[in-house]
Amino acid sequence: MTSCIFCQIIEGKAASSKVYEDDICLAFLDIQPVNPGHILVVPKVHFKDLSDLPAAIGSHLFQVAQRISFCLPKTGIRSEGFDLFLADGEAAGQEVFHVHLHVIPRFAGDGFGFRFGPNYTDLPQRHELDAVAAQIKEQLEQ
Ligand code: AMP
Ligand code: ZN
Repeated sequence: MTSCIFCQIIEGKAASSKVYEDDICLAFLDIQPVNPGHILVVPKVHFKDLSDLPAAIGSHLFQVAQRISFCLPKTGIRSEGFDLFLADGEAAGQEVFHVHLHVIPRFAGDGFGFRFGPNYTDLPQRHELDAVAAQIKEQLEQ
């Protein structure tokens, strides 16, 4: 049996609370929700991270996440806003190496948030931003 927990869920070999399914993806409740209604949208095929993921499947995951975010406020589940979050790579906090898009309902005072590094409040100069932008643009134009 595969060691990937999300593949096990997709194959019906591990428990999940499904909210949506189509040919390409499955959406189910996160077992350790940030807030009630926290959902993971996962491709049915095992792709370990974004470098692996076909763009069309990534677009589909986003479309499904967007649709879920439209529906959730109508359910009575508390959701004044959403974070759509994808951790790509261990350094970014990815723990399950089967691509997944988090749909996290948010509300004022829920206590969730990103923790910033010590230099976060030191704003870079425009020329420093421009230098970083140039580095990225150069690669994007390859
Ligand atoms: P990430 O840090 O983005 O890789 O997040 C992995 C997420 O998967 C976490 O929010 C976990 O709570 C969630 N998770 C792990 N195992 C399961 C499971 N069996 N069913 C539902 N969610 C899970
Ligand atoms: Zn998998």
